[in-house]
Amino acid sequence: ATRALHNNANDISPLQIFVRAKKKINDIFVEIEDYVSETTRFVEGDVPISGDIIDKAETEQFKSYVLKVSGIREVLSRDHMKVAFFGRTSNGKSSVINAMLRDKILPSGIGHTTNCFCQVEGIDGQEAYLVKEGSDEKLNVTSIKQLANALCQEKLCESSLVRIFWPRERCSLLRDDVVFVDSPGVDVSPNLDDWIDNHCLNADVFVLVLNSESTMTLAEKSFFHEVSTRLSKPNIFILNNRWDASASEPEFQESVKAQHQERCTDFLIKELKVSTPKEAEERVFFVSARETLQARLKEQEGLPAIQGALAEGFQNRYFEFQDFERKFEECISQSAVRTKFAQHSSRGKSIANEMRQMLDGIYERANVMHNQKLDQKKKLTDRIANTEQQLMLVTREMKMKIHNMVEEVEQKVAKALNE
Ligand code: GDP
Repeated sequence: ATRALHNNANDISPLQIFVRAKKKINDIFVEIEDYVSETTRFVEGDVPISGDIIDKAETEQFKSYVLKVSGIREVLSRDHMKVAFFGRTSNGKSSVINAMLRDKILPSGIGHTTNCFCQVEGIDGQEAYLVKEGSDEKLNVTSIKQLANALCQEKLCESSLVRIFWPRERCSLLRDDVVFVDSPGVDVSPNLDDWIDNHCLNADVFVLVLNSESTMTLAEKSFFHEVSTRLSKPNIFILNNRWDASASEPEFQESVKAQHQERCTDFLIKELKVSTPKEAEERVFFVSARETLQARLKEQEGLPAIQGALAEGFQNRYFEFQDFERKFEECISQSAVRTKFAQHSSRGKSIANEMRQMLDGIYERANVMHNQKLDQKKKLTDRIANTEQQLMLVTREMKMKIHNMVEEVEQKVAKALNE
């Protein structure tokens, strides 16, 4: 039942824009690779006379294209959509990621503060494992508790990275090539430069997870100010998490919401200047990550989602979370296609262009050589024809002479006989 659910979600997922574009661009590079290899075999001397027309430098150049194209294919195969989560400790970053992945993958809760960066990415196969920065060792992840301990006990540098490889087939977002990055809280005196250099420059989307029970802090704001000076127009979503708490004070709910909404949109529009007012409306959400995760786990057990509810108003928060996911998927997919594939396609184009120019040159030279040979042949044929003609003339003359001579002799003989 779970798989059917995933398949259904997958059929309509905007992430498919990226998945299909990746497949398509890969197919094109496979074609270019075939073409480059064939051409290289040709210039390397498949054709007997090629050595006369193609020089060594050109052959080397073609060989370099083979490497370039396979290099691009290699990078392409590793291209994915990356989303990074930021916010203060305990705002619910890990819970949001777990809710999106529909499983308790990252440890969350008291005592489980992740003090380094955690990246969750998909792998083929059934076994989950983790790899710490600077090591190749695949550590088994059999339980979430063990993972939590591994992450907490280790004295890991706050800007180092732990990669968690999770079976793709357990989650449609991982299957569609989304990679999640959880960060240590922005309140833990971050080394912003390192953070941004190591984990943010290739992120397609940033999610700021706020606690809707308090207001955005200076630390949270500063981080995004720094990000937006380094990246042009980063895509930022803001989740006002723990919105289930607002249910206990229904009389203030609307006014609190309006206040948060205004602060968040002002932050995106006026402070960071990364969104237009219209875009900003689609970037701010009021959700409950813990509740969404619980509801999804219930659904997977075949129970109604509402059984995961934490408070009144579950349905609205649940829809809002799904709405966030939808907008997020559209945004990350389009942004990743633009930033990652635009580069590959322009490199592919320039390789194809350079090759065409070189092949044009070779063709041109081959043509010149062909014409020269034709010319030589023509001269030769002309000479032969000339000789033949002369020969003919000479023969005809000789024939005439002989004929005349014979006649003369005959006449002379006849005359002599008469006499
Ligand atoms: P992180 O440090 O930002 O990754 O925060 P966690 O995801 O670890 O969450 C910290 C605590 O808040 C955990 O005990 C979560 O269960 C709880 N929590 C997270 N999201 C929500 C929410 O939306 N509502 C409520 N009531 N609790 C939440």
